[in-house]
Amino acid sequence: MIKVNDNYAKLKESYLFYRIGQKVKAYKEAHPGEPVYRLGIGDVSLPLCDAAVKALHEAADDQGSAERFQGYTPEPGMPFFREAVADYYAGRGISLQTAEVFVSSGASDELGDILDLFSRESAACIMEPAYPAYLDANIMAGRKITTLSAGPENGFLPTPEENPDADLIYLCSPNNPTGAVYSREQLKKWVDWANARGAVILFDAAYEAFIEDDSLPHSIFEIEGARTCAIEICSLSKTAGFTGTRLGYTVIPMDLERGGMNLNAMWVRNRTTKTNGVSYIIQKGGAAVFTPEGQEQIRKNIHYYKNNARVLMDALDKAGIEYWGGKNAPYVWMRCPKGMGSWEFFDRMLNDIQVVGTPGEGFGPCGEGFFRLSAFGHADETKTAAERMYRLLESLK
Ligand code: PLP
Repeated sequence: MIKVNDNYAKLKESYLFYRIGQKVKAYKEAHPGEPVYRLGIGDVSLPLCDAAVKALHEAADDQGSAERFQGYTPEPGMPFFREAVADYYAGRGISLQTAEVFVSSGASDELGDILDLFSRESAACIMEPAYPAYLDANIMAGRKITTLSAGPENGFLPTPEENPDADLIYLCSPNNPTGAVYSREQLKKWVDWANARGAVILFDAAYEAFIEDDSLPHSIFEIEGARTCAIEICSLSKTAGFTGTRLGYTVIPMDLERGGMNLNAMWVRNRTTKTNGVSYIIQKGGAAVFTPEGQEQIRKNIHYYKNNARVLMDALDKAGIEYWGGKNAPYVWMRCPKGMGSWEFFDRMLNDIQVVGTPGEGFGPCGEGFFRLSAFGHADETKTAAERMYRLLESLK
Protein backbone atom coordinates (compact mmCIF):
# COMPACT_ATOMS: atom_id res chain seq x y z
CA MET A 1 0.00 0.00 0.00
CA ILE A 2 1.18 3.48 -0.76
CA LYS A 3 2.67 5.33 2.17
CA VAL A 4 1.35 8.88 2.36
CA ASN A 5 3.16 11.82 3.88
CA ASP A 6 2.07 11.21 7.45
CA ASN A 7 3.53 14.54 8.55
CA TYR A 8 0.10 15.90 7.63
CA ALA A 9 -1.26 14.08 10.68
CA LYS A 10 0.97 16.29 12.82
CA LEU A 11 -0.68 19.49 11.59
CA LYS A 12 -2.88 21.18 14.13
CA GLU A 13 -6.33 22.13 12.91
CA SER A 14 -6.00 25.59 11.43
CA TYR A 15 -8.83 26.79 13.56
CA LEU A 16 -8.10 30.52 13.85
CA PHE A 17 -10.10 31.95 10.97
CA TYR A 18 -12.56 29.07 11.07
CA ARG A 19 -13.29 29.74 14.74
CA ILE A 20 -13.60 33.47 14.10
CA GLY A 21 -15.97 32.75 11.21
CA GLN A 22 -18.09 30.45 13.39
CA LYS A 23 -18.36 32.99 16.18
CA VAL A 24 -19.32 35.79 13.79
CA LYS A 25 -21.88 33.55 12.09
CA ALA A 26 -23.46 32.61 15.43
CA TYR A 27 -23.61 36.28 16.46
CA LYS A 28 -25.23 37.30 13.18
CA GLU A 29 -27.82 34.53 13.42
CA ALA A 30 -28.70 35.67 16.93
CA HIS A 31 -28.79 39.36 15.92
CA PRO A 32 -30.12 39.51 12.35
CA GLY A 33 -29.64 42.81 10.54
CA GLU A 34 -27.10 44.16 13.04
CA PRO A 35 -23.88 45.36 11.35
CA VAL A 36 -20.54 43.77 12.25
CA TYR A 37 -17.35 45.83 11.78
CA ARG A 38 -14.35 43.90 10.55
CA LEU A 39 -10.84 44.68 11.73
CA GLY A 40 -9.78 41.08 11.42
CA ILE A 41 -9.17 40.61 7.75
CA GLY A 42 -5.75 40.30 6.15
CA ASP A 43 -7.24 40.90 2.70
CA VAL A 44 -7.27 44.32 1.07
CA SER A 45 -10.43 46.33 0.42
CA LEU A 46 -9.34 48.75 -2.34
CA PRO A 47 -9.37 47.67 -6.01
CA LEU A 48 -6.32 47.41 -8.27
CA CYS A 49 -4.79 50.70 -9.37
CA ASP A 50 -5.65 52.10 -12.83
CA ALA A 51 -2.16 51.51 -14.24
CA ALA A 52 -2.39 47.80 -13.42
CA VAL A 53 -5.95 47.47 -14.75
CA LYS A 54 -4.99 49.17 -18.03
CA ALA A 55 -1.98 46.89 -18.47
CA LEU A 56 -4.11 43.82 -17.71
CA HIS A 57 -6.61 44.84 -20.40
CA GLU A 58 -3.87 45.48 -22.94
CA ALA A 59 -2.23 42.15 -22.16
CA ALA A 60 -5.56 40.35 -22.58
CA ASP A 61 -5.81 41.99 -26.01
CA ASP A 62 -2.27 40.80 -26.81
CA GLN A 63 -3.43 37.24 -26.17
CA GLY A 64 -6.11 37.71 -28.84
CA SER A 65 -3.68 39.09 -31.40
CA ALA A 66 -1.86 36.81 -33.86
CA GLU A 67 1.19 39.11 -33.73
CA ARG A 68 1.36 39.66 -30.02
CA PHE A 69 0.11 36.34 -28.64
CA GLN A 70 2.29 34.95 -25.85
CA GLY A 71 2.35 31.22 -25.15
CA TYR A 72 4.28 29.68 -22.27
CA THR A 73 6.29 32.27 -20.40
CA PRO A 74 9.89 31.65 -19.21
CA GLU A 75 9.54 29.88 -15.85
CA PRO A 76 11.74 32.27 -13.82
CA GLY A 77 9.71 35.22 -15.15
CA MET A 78 9.18 37.40 -18.22
CA PRO A 79 12.24 39.61 -18.80
CA PHE A 80 10.12 42.79 -18.59
CA PHE A 81 8.83 41.76 -15.15
CA ARG A 82 12.25 40.76 -13.80
CA GLU A 83 13.68 44.04 -15.08
CA ALA A 84 10.87 46.06 -13.50
CA VAL A 85 11.60 44.47 -10.11
CA ALA A 86 15.38 44.89 -10.49
CA ASP A 87 14.83 48.58 -11.32
CA TYR A 88 12.62 48.94 -8.24
CA TYR A 89 15.48 47.61 -6.09
CA ALA A 90 17.98 49.82 -7.94
CA GLY A 91 15.84 52.79 -6.89
CA ARG A 92 16.77 51.89 -3.32
CA GLY A 93 20.43 51.47 -4.13
CA ILE A 94 20.34 47.66 -4.35
CA SER A 95 22.00 46.32 -7.43
CA LEU A 96 20.46 43.06 -8.70
CA GLN A 97 20.94 41.11 -11.88
CA THR A 98 17.61 40.38 -13.56
CA ALA A 99 18.52 36.68 -13.27
CA GLU A 100 18.40 37.06 -9.50
CA VAL A 101 14.69 37.98 -9.62
CA PHE A 102 12.10 35.22 -9.98
CA VAL A 103 8.40 35.74 -10.57
CA SER A 104 5.96 33.85 -8.34
CA SER A 105 2.24 33.39 -7.99
CA GLY A 106 2.39 35.00 -4.57
CA ALA A 107 4.42 34.81 -1.41
CA SER A 108 2.41 31.99 0.16
CA ASP A 109 3.03 29.67 -2.76
CA GLU A 110 6.69 30.57 -2.72
CA LEU A 111 7.16 30.20 1.04
CA GLY A 112 6.00 26.62 0.73
CA ASP A 113 7.74 25.76 -2.54
CA ILE A 114 11.14 27.22 -1.62
CA LEU A 115 11.57 24.54 1.04
CA ASP A 116 12.41 22.15 -1.81
CA LEU A 117 15.88 23.72 -1.77
CA PHE A 118 16.69 22.50 1.72
CA SER A 119 17.26 19.07 3.13
CA ARG A 120 14.68 17.72 5.52
CA GLU A 121 17.44 17.33 8.09
CA SER A 122 17.93 21.09 8.24
CA ALA A 123 16.14 22.68 11.20
CA ALA A 124 13.87 25.68 10.71
CA CYS A 125 13.43 28.47 13.24
CA ILE A 126 10.23 30.46 13.41
CA MET A 127 9.67 33.54 15.51
CA GLU A 128 6.34 33.46 17.22
CA PRO A 129 3.79 35.02 16.97
CA ALA A 130 4.07 34.24 13.26
CA TYR A 131 2.24 34.09 9.98
CA PRO A 132 0.86 30.53 10.27
CA ALA A 133 2.10 29.27 6.86
CA TYR A 134 5.75 29.11 8.01
CA LEU A 135 4.99 26.53 10.64
CA ASP A 136 2.61 24.37 8.63
CA ALA A 137 4.82 24.23 5.52
CA ASN A 138 7.71 22.93 7.63
CA ILE A 139 5.54 20.43 9.47
CA MET A 140 4.37 19.07 6.10
CA ALA A 141 8.01 18.76 5.05
CA GLY A 142 8.81 16.81 8.22
CA ARG A 143 11.44 19.30 9.29
CA LYS A 144 12.66 19.88 12.83
CA ILE A 145 11.18 23.20 13.98
CA THR A 146 12.45 25.46 16.71
CA THR A 147 10.86 28.72 17.82
CA LEU A 148 11.98 32.03 19.21
CA SER A 149 9.48 33.96 21.30
CA ALA A 150 8.81 37.56 20.39
CA GLY A 151 7.32 39.76 23.07
CA PRO A 152 7.42 43.22 24.58
CA GLU A 153 10.74 42.33 26.28
CA ASN A 154 12.52 42.14 22.90
CA GLY A 155 10.26 44.63 21.10
CA PHE A 156 8.79 41.64 19.20
CA LEU A 157 12.13 41.41 17.39
CA PRO A 158 14.24 38.45 18.55
CA THR A 159 17.97 38.66 17.88
CA PRO A 160 20.67 36.01 17.32
CA GLU A 161 21.82 36.57 20.91
CA GLU A 162 18.89 34.31 21.78
CA ASN A 163 20.90 31.49 20.19
CA PRO A 164 18.46 29.93 17.77
CA ASP A 165 19.11 26.33 16.87
CA ALA A 166 18.44 26.48 13.14
CA ASP A 167 19.79 26.24 9.62
CA LEU A 168 16.87 28.05 8.08
CA ILE A 169 15.42 31.11 9.76
CA TYR A 170 12.33 33.12 8.93
CA LEU A 171 12.45 36.88 9.35
CA CYS A 172 9.25 38.77 8.59
CA SER A 173 9.72 42.54 8.62
CA PRO A 174 7.41 44.47 8.80
CA ASN A 175 5.90 41.67 10.79
CA ASN A 176 2.53 40.04 10.52
CA PRO A 177 0.95 40.06 13.11
CA THR A 178 2.97 42.41 15.35
CA GLY A 179 3.87 45.19 12.88
CA ALA A 180 7.41 45.25 14.32
CA VAL A 181 10.21 46.22 11.89
CA TYR A 182 13.88 45.27 12.17
CA SER A 183 16.46 48.07 12.08
CA ARG A 184 19.57 47.84 9.90
CA GLU A 185 21.74 47.10 12.95
CA GLN A 186 19.47 44.26 14.05
CA LEU A 187 19.35 42.76 10.56
CA LYS A 188 23.13 43.02 10.30
CA LYS A 189 23.37 40.79 13.37
CA TRP A 190 21.14 38.21 11.71
CA VAL A 191 23.17 38.37 8.49
CA ASP A 192 26.45 37.91 10.37
CA TRP A 193 24.95 35.05 12.36
CA ALA A 194 23.69 33.29 9.20
CA ASN A 195 27.00 33.72 7.35
CA ALA A 196 29.00 32.45 10.31
CA ARG A 197 26.75 29.44 10.77
CA GLY A 198 26.11 28.64 7.10
CA ALA A 199 22.39 29.15 7.70
CA VAL A 200 19.95 30.71 5.23
CA ILE A 201 17.56 33.55 6.06
CA LEU A 202 14.13 33.51 4.42
CA PHE A 203 13.22 37.17 4.51
CA ASP A 204 9.50 37.81 4.08
CA ALA A 205 9.13 41.38 2.82
CA ALA A 206 5.41 41.18 1.96
CA TYR A 207 4.76 44.46 3.83
CA GLU A 208 7.90 46.43 2.88
CA ALA A 209 5.90 49.11 1.08
CA PHE A 210 4.25 50.10 4.36
CA ILE A 211 7.52 51.34 5.88
CA GLU A 212 7.48 55.12 6.15
CA ASP A 213 10.43 55.59 8.46
CA ASP A 214 13.43 56.24 6.15
CA SER A 215 15.93 54.74 8.55
CA LEU A 216 14.31 51.27 8.37
CA PRO A 217 15.36 48.74 5.73
CA HIS A 218 12.80 47.53 3.15
CA SER A 219 14.99 44.69 1.96
CA ILE A 220 17.53 42.39 3.58
CA PHE A 221 19.77 43.18 0.61
CA GLU A 222 20.28 46.67 2.02
CA ILE A 223 22.49 44.89 4.57
CA GLU A 224 26.09 44.11 3.79
CA GLY A 225 26.73 40.38 3.61
CA ALA A 226 23.11 39.41 2.84
CA ARG A 227 23.94 38.26 -0.69
CA THR A 228 25.68 35.20 0.71
CA CYS A 229 22.97 34.15 3.18
CA ALA A 230 19.48 35.38 2.27
CA ILE A 231 16.49 34.80 0.04
CA GLU A 232 13.85 37.52 -0.09
CA ILE A 233 10.21 36.69 -0.73
CA CYS A 234 7.88 39.48 -1.72
CA SER A 235 4.34 39.94 -2.90
CA LEU A 236 2.16 42.42 -4.73
CA SER A 237 -0.82 41.34 -2.61
CA LYS A 238 -0.80 43.99 0.07
CA THR A 239 1.32 46.53 -1.78
CA ALA A 240 -0.85 46.68 -4.86
CA GLY A 241 -4.03 44.73 -4.12
CA PHE A 242 -3.03 41.55 -6.01
CA THR A 243 -4.52 39.20 -3.38
CA GLY A 244 -6.97 37.82 -5.92
CA THR A 245 -4.86 38.46 -9.02
CA ARG A 246 -1.85 36.59 -7.52
CA LEU A 247 1.68 37.78 -8.16
CA GLY A 248 4.90 38.00 -6.24
CA TYR A 249 8.65 37.83 -6.67
CA THR A 250 11.62 36.21 -5.01
CA VAL A 251 15.23 37.35 -4.99
CA ILE A 252 17.95 34.70 -4.84
CA PRO A 253 21.43 36.19 -5.26
CA MET A 254 23.98 34.47 -7.47
CA ASP A 255 26.36 34.54 -4.49
CA LEU A 256 24.19 32.28 -2.33
CA GLU A 257 25.86 28.89 -2.14
CA ARG A 258 25.63 26.06 0.36
CA GLY A 259 27.29 22.65 0.24
CA GLY A 260 28.93 23.51 -3.09
CA MET A 261 25.54 24.16 -4.71
CA ASN A 262 24.28 27.45 -6.08
CA LEU A 263 20.77 28.19 -4.80
CA ASN A 264 19.88 30.48 -7.71
CA ALA A 265 20.72 27.71 -10.19
CA MET A 266 18.82 25.19 -8.07
CA TRP A 267 15.73 27.43 -8.10
CA VAL A 268 15.93 27.81 -11.90
CA ARG A 269 15.97 24.00 -12.09
CA ASN A 270 13.06 23.79 -9.64
CA ARG A 271 10.88 26.32 -11.47
CA THR A 272 11.57 24.85 -14.90
CA THR A 273 10.55 21.45 -13.56
CA LYS A 274 7.62 22.29 -11.32
CA THR A 275 6.01 25.24 -13.12
CA ASN A 276 5.32 26.34 -16.64
CA GLY A 277 5.65 30.01 -15.84
CA VAL A 278 3.26 32.59 -14.42
CA SER A 279 0.51 34.13 -16.56
CA TYR A 280 1.77 36.67 -19.11
CA ILE A 281 -1.27 38.86 -18.47
CA ILE A 282 -0.70 39.00 -14.72
CA GLN A 283 3.01 39.75 -15.13
CA LYS A 284 2.07 42.67 -17.41
CA GLY A 285 -0.31 43.96 -14.75
CA GLY A 286 2.42 43.54 -12.13
CA ALA A 287 5.09 45.33 -14.18
CA ALA A 288 2.71 48.32 -14.48
CA VAL A 289 2.76 48.64 -10.67
CA PHE A 290 6.48 49.49 -10.89
CA THR A 291 6.01 52.33 -13.40
CA PRO A 292 6.09 55.89 -11.96
CA GLU A 293 2.34 56.11 -12.54
CA GLY A 294 1.69 52.76 -10.87
CA GLN A 295 3.89 53.66 -7.91
CA GLU A 296 2.06 56.94 -7.41
CA GLN A 297 -1.30 55.19 -7.49
CA ILE A 298 -0.39 52.40 -5.08
CA ARG A 299 1.15 54.98 -2.72
CA LYS A 300 -2.31 56.55 -2.45
CA ASN A 301 -3.83 53.20 -1.50
CA ILE A 302 -1.11 52.51 1.04
CA HIS A 303 -1.69 55.97 2.47
CA TYR A 304 -5.40 55.16 2.82
CA TYR A 305 -4.59 52.01 4.83
CA LYS A 306 -2.01 53.84 6.90
CA ASN A 307 -4.67 56.42 7.76
CA ASN A 308 -6.84 53.58 9.02
CA ALA A 309 -3.93 52.42 11.17
CA ARG A 310 -3.61 55.98 12.51
CA VAL A 311 -7.31 56.04 13.44
CA LEU A 312 -6.91 52.76 15.34
CA MET A 313 -3.75 53.94 17.09
CA ASP A 314 -5.43 57.22 18.10
CA ALA A 315 -8.25 55.30 19.75
CA LEU A 316 -5.77 53.13 21.66
CA ASP A 317 -3.70 56.15 22.68
CA LYS A 318 -6.81 57.86 23.98
CA ALA A 319 -7.76 54.76 25.94
CA GLY A 320 -4.22 54.36 27.28
CA ILE A 321 -3.72 50.91 25.81
CA GLU A 322 -0.25 49.66 24.91
CA TYR A 323 0.28 48.63 21.28
CA TRP A 324 2.98 47.94 18.70
CA GLY A 325 3.11 48.30 14.91
CA GLY A 326 0.75 50.49 12.89
CA LYS A 327 3.33 53.11 11.96
CA ASN A 328 5.36 51.11 9.44
CA ALA A 329 2.89 48.27 8.98
CA PRO A 330 -0.79 47.73 8.23
CA TYR A 331 -1.33 45.89 11.52
CA VAL A 332 -1.72 47.22 15.04
CA TRP A 333 -0.85 44.70 17.74
CA MET A 334 -2.45 45.67 21.03
CA ARG A 335 -2.29 44.31 24.53
CA CYS A 336 -5.67 43.03 25.66
CA PRO A 337 -7.10 45.20 28.43
CA LYS A 338 -7.29 44.09 32.06
CA GLY A 339 -5.09 41.05 31.48
CA MET A 340 -7.80 39.42 29.36
CA GLY A 341 -7.02 36.40 27.22
CA SER A 342 -7.11 37.07 23.48
CA TRP A 343 -10.27 35.00 22.85
CA GLU A 344 -11.96 36.55 25.87
CA PHE A 345 -11.28 40.01 24.42
CA PHE A 346 -12.44 38.81 21.00
CA ASP A 347 -15.78 37.80 22.53
CA ARG A 348 -16.17 41.13 24.32
CA MET A 349 -15.42 43.04 21.10
CA LEU A 350 -17.89 40.97 19.09
CA ASN A 351 -20.71 40.77 21.62
CA ASP A 352 -20.48 44.26 23.12
CA ILE A 353 -19.51 46.44 20.16
CA GLN A 354 -19.76 44.16 17.08
CA VAL A 355 -16.13 44.64 16.09
CA VAL A 356 -14.15 41.65 14.85
CA GLY A 357 -10.38 41.47 15.31
CA THR A 358 -7.89 38.60 15.43
CA PRO A 359 -6.92 36.96 18.73
CA GLY A 360 -3.13 36.93 19.13
CA GLU A 361 -3.12 33.36 20.35
CA GLY A 362 -3.97 32.28 16.80
CA PHE A 363 -0.41 33.24 15.74
CA GLY A 364 1.29 31.03 18.31
CA PRO A 365 1.17 30.56 22.09
CA CYS A 366 3.12 33.74 22.87
CA GLY A 367 0.43 35.77 21.09
CA GLU A 368 -1.86 35.06 24.05
CA GLY A 369 -2.93 38.28 25.75
CA PHE A 370 -2.55 40.29 22.52
CA PHE A 371 -4.90 41.18 19.71
CA ARG A 372 -4.35 42.12 16.04
CA LEU A 373 -6.23 44.96 14.37
CA SER A 374 -5.99 45.20 10.58
CA ALA A 375 -5.89 48.51 8.72
CA PHE A 376 -7.02 46.96 5.43
CA GLY A 377 -10.72 47.77 5.87
CA HIS A 378 -12.78 50.64 4.50
CA ALA A 379 -12.07 53.99 6.16
CA ASP A 380 -15.62 54.68 7.37
CA GLU A 381 -15.99 51.20 8.83
CA THR A 382 -12.58 51.48 10.53
CA LYS A 383 -13.54 54.85 12.01
CA THR A 384 -16.79 53.50 13.45
CA ALA A 385 -15.00 50.41 14.78
CA ALA A 386 -12.30 52.56 16.41
CA GLU A 387 -14.91 54.75 18.13
CA ARG A 388 -16.73 51.71 19.45
CA MET A 389 -13.50 50.12 20.59
CA TYR A 390 -12.53 53.28 22.48
CA ARG A 391 -15.89 53.28 24.30
CA LEU A 392 -15.51 49.61 25.20
CA LEU A 393 -11.96 50.12 26.49
CA GLU A 394 -13.09 53.08 28.60
CA SER A 395 -16.00 51.09 30.04
CA LEU A 396 -13.60 48.33 31.09
CA LYS A 397 -11.51 50.69 33.23
N1 PLP B 1 3.71 36.70 4.08
C1 PLP B 1 3.02 37.32 5.03
C2 PLP B 1 3.74 37.77 6.25
C3 PLP B 1 1.64 37.53 4.91
O1 PLP B 1 0.96 38.14 5.88
C4 PLP B 1 0.99 37.08 3.74
C5 PLP B 1 -0.45 37.23 3.56
O2 PLP B 1 -1.20 37.62 4.40
C6 PLP B 1 1.75 36.44 2.77
C7 PLP B 1 3.10 36.27 2.97
C8 PLP B 1 1.11 35.87 1.55
O3 PLP B 1 0.98 36.74 0.53
P1 PLP B 1 0.45 36.28 -0.89
O4 PLP B 1 -0.94 36.84 -1.01
O5 PLP B 1 1.40 36.87 -1.86
O6 PLP B 1 0.44 34.79 -0.95
